[in-house]
Amino acid sequence: MTERVHNFSAGPCTLPLSVLEQGQTEFVNYHGAGMSLIEMSHRGKQFVAVHEEAVDLVRTVFGVPDEFDVLFLQGGATLQFAMVPMNLLGSGQKAGYINSGTWAKGALADAQHYGDVYTAWDGADCNYTRMPSTDEIGIQPGTRYLHLTSNETIGGIRFSDWPQVDVPLIGDMSSDYMSRPVPWERFDLVYGGAQKNLGPAGMALVIIRKTVARENNQEIGRYLRYDIQADKGSMFNTPPVFPIYMLGKVLRWMRDQGGVAAMERQAEEKAGMLYQAIDNSGGYYRSPVDAGSRSVMNVVFRLPSEELEAAFLSEADAASLLNLKGHRSVGGIRASIYNAMPAEGVEALSAFMSDFQSAHPA
Ligand SMILES: *Cc1c(COP(=O)(O)O)cnc(C)c1O
Repeated sequence: MTERVHNFSAGPCTLPLSVLEQGQTEFVNYHGAGMSLIEMSHRGKQFVAVHEEAVDLVRTVFGVPDEFDVLFLQGGATLQFAMVPMNLLGSGQKAGYINSGTWAKGALADAQHYGDVYTAWDGADCNYTRMPSTDEIGIQPGTRYLHLTSNETIGGIRFSDWPQVDVPLIGDMSSDYMSRPVPWERFDLVYGGAQKNLGPAGMALVIIRKTVARENNQEIGRYLRYDIQADKGSMFNTPPVFPIYMLGKVLRWMRDQGGVAAMERQAEEKAGMLYQAIDNSGGYYRSPVDAGSRSVMNVVFRLPSEELEAAFLSEADAASLLNLKGHRSVGGIRASIYNAMPAEGVEALSAFMSDFQSAHPA
């Protein structure tokens, strides 16, 4: 393969070409050090500078207030499913979880081991085709936090409006991190795996209110304690040096594009193009999710039959439009169009959809 394809993978996923090329240029001999960045001590001057710049960029690009710590932790988003309740729920404390689909269910299942958790809204009744409005969310007395999944990567739904509740929010933002601003005053913690919007796999970005990081309600191993991780600036043990380095480059790319405001505008435009292709297809392409909850990162749709879906996928592959197969648990088509997906990729897909429909009438 000589050219890059349009990669619609849900994660790991496409990254900005300029970032990959810059990493390639620096990889063997980092800024004249005579060694690669991944061969250096994580406590040496050059890596520490990379690490500090990455933290600063998270703060500036995402508008993170000073009351929050920025942590780079291993274990991806999945370890946060457990770390959040381990640290924040003491005995007798409870937490509400919005069950919006596959990922939310995982967070809820893991939290059950560490505290008294309950389902504050259950999307099972609507087959996970939408997010709840605030008045549908049931908060029980004594609730420490409400956990939400801002974007369900598999189901293709997102919160268009953040819930207005009286308890702090905790958000899994793995698949729409830095694609829109966050009302920080309502959140105690946001987290997400890096491998969708932010860089390569291998770490989670955790942004936690400083006072909350020090709650530490259970006796747990040191790596798992937010207070230790925050006090040590994510350097309690060897941090994930390569993901941190690449994340810094992706964030610099975002900043140069115009930051989160530009990412949000581009996401609306790119997703708008695909939803328009769906809505203007006379019912040939069908979005299974509620219009008010449509994700702008993972656009899911169906064709008139599974045979046509299989043909769509194989012809798309041949046209260098890759990884469009929906998650095996739901089937159909899923186009993941994260921040780094160029508009040209989405234009190519939208043109392909129209050509495919003409060639294969229902
Ligand atoms: C991908 C994803 C996860 C899992 O992330 P890992 O880093 O692989 O643990 C969790 N939540 C959401 C919403 C995701 O999209």
